[in-house]
Amino acid sequence: MKSHRLLLHVCCGPCGTSTHRYWFAEGADLVGFFYNPNIQPLMEFRRRVEGVRDLAQQLGMPLVEDLSYDPAHWFSQVMRVTGGGGEEPQDSTSPRCARCIGMRMERAAREAVAQQCEAFSTTLSISPWQDHEVIRAQGREASARHGVEFLYRDLRPLYPESRRLSREWGLYRQKYCGCLVSEWERYRDS
Ligand code: SF4
Repeated sequence: MKSHRLLLHVCCGPCGTSTHRYWFAEGADLVGFFYNPNIQPLMEFRRRVEGVRDLAQQLGMPLVEDLSYDPAHWFSQVMRVTGGGGEEPQDSTSPRCARCIGMRMERAAREAVAQQCEAFSTTLSISPWQDHEVIRAQGREASARHGVEFLYRDLRPLYPESRRLSREWGLYRQKYCGCLVSEWERYRDS
């Protein structure tokens, strides 16, 4: 891929380090895009926004931000209460995560069209903690809806390098995926 204008959805600073390096080496003309209304609570959301701004500044990458933030709306979109009154089991591959990723891929595809990009991708593709089949499926569905190509690569082998770079560059490093459920999963046994 040479000189394609690529919108890179950035979930956080650390995941953006090696992901940016990869696509830059591929010849992409990168536009960063922050849209992550799943990050809770608000002060954590703000820390991650700052982390992504820090990353973009260090890389000289243009950054577009959608800072929409409404946890009540987000929960209403991603949680589905069952007929029995219970809720879905909460694990890393839950339907909640598929909807959460789908919401972000949908918005990224829309922004890729607005920014006149030929394609879009996401830094989620470097994370060993995410379900990559879900990322790929949700990206492709958003791609088909908006007529802009979704580029998926399995960048998990670059994950250790991204952690090292994030330390070297002094980026904010979060301890959990984003939503309050993931924060609970991270700390419940501690
Ligand atoms: S665990 Fe992460 S991917 Fe899953 S719903 Fe929460 S923020 Fe979204």
